[in-house]
Amino acid sequence: MKLVAKFRRPGSRIIAMLATAILLLLLVLPVSCSKPESPPEPVQGEEGKNPGGEQLDAPEVKIDYQALGVNEAGEIMILMYHEIGEPESTWCRTPANFRKDLETLHAAGYRLISMNDLLDGKIDLPAGYSPVVLTFDDGRNGQFRYLEEDGRPVIDPDCAVGILEEFYAAHPDFGLAATFYIFYENPFGQSRHVQQKLSHLVEKGFEIGNHCYSHGNLRRLAPDQARRELALQVKRTQEYLPGYPVRSLALPFGERPDEMSHIIEGRYEGTTYRNEGILLVGANPAPSPFSVKFNPAALPRVRASEMETDGVGLYDWLERLRENPERRYISDGNPAVVTVPEPLAAQVDQSRLDGKSLLTY
Ligand SMILES: [Zn+2]
Repeated sequence: MKLVAKFRRPGSRIIAMLATAILLLLLVLPVSCSKPESPPEPVQGEEGKNPGGEQLDAPEVKIDYQALGVNEAGEIMILMYHEIGEPESTWCRTPANFRKDLETLHAAGYRLISMNDLLDGKIDLPAGYSPVVLTFDDGRNGQFRYLEEDGRPVIDPDCAVGILEEFYAAHPDFGLAATFYIFYENPFGQSRHVQQKLSHLVEKGFEIGNHCYSHGNLRRLAPDQARRELALQVKRTQEYLPGYPVRSLALPFGERPDEMSHIIEGRYEGTTYRNEGILLVGANPAPSPFSVKFNPAALPRVRASEMETDGVGLYDWLERLRENPERRYISDGNPAVVTVPEPLAAQVDQSRLDGKSLLTY
């Protein structure tokens, strides 16, 4: 009582202010202490500290798997594009619509990974985000075009590569990745620029895939002709890009023979090929590379189109995965650990973990 009375005296104002300041400090302190727990980013930073994947024992940063819906056995969209240009049609996306696709995917929590990363199960995204793969078939001019400016070739800002690079510059968190399934003699339609284009793509981290040497129908071709189609594409690609590993195939016309062994790997006139991933034409997201359902020899793709999609185009699937988030692959933020909800543990193919730990919650 005496103390309180003392504070009330005019001469003790400074002491009263100090007490208030200490009280405020105590109130504020717990808030700033809890702050580092909220953002998911630090989990990725942990990678270097625990190269053996021992993060399970050192949960310095708590990820709320339940709240984020983490599910690394979920499905992944592999989007299929053909031409980028005008006008919009079943097999042609306008530059404006392609930009809209990227904006929509980015806003909906999708991030780019490459086809090879999918095949390798190398999915390194922050917690709560979903991978998406972009594929372009046929090497159309609208996918990669040079314009002449003062006698120098510059990338057309309205071709797929121009749009992707511009989007990446504005949104580096989205990533930069796509696989171009080309055939010959003249991929991307400007014969004088083939070397420059293929070199540029690989330099930027894009990938080149097999689409047969002359877009052959692999269902109709005899095995030896099919081997020729597949091997010559690799041979020609490696003439431009010495040693380049062509690792996946997009089936021309979506057609494949019943017997697939000579499509998966083979040799023709000294050139060997091995298609670790084989892409179909339709019509749904692919299983996670950690799922027992993952079949690299028959990976379905989602058509990135809004015309004649029959309910299985990009926007149909975006909506379906939004309404059924438990189907969607959602990252735990740690590439060394595969995290799934407890009831899905049996869906994980242990043989595909490749040294990663499995965590259920
Ligand atoms: Zn094609």
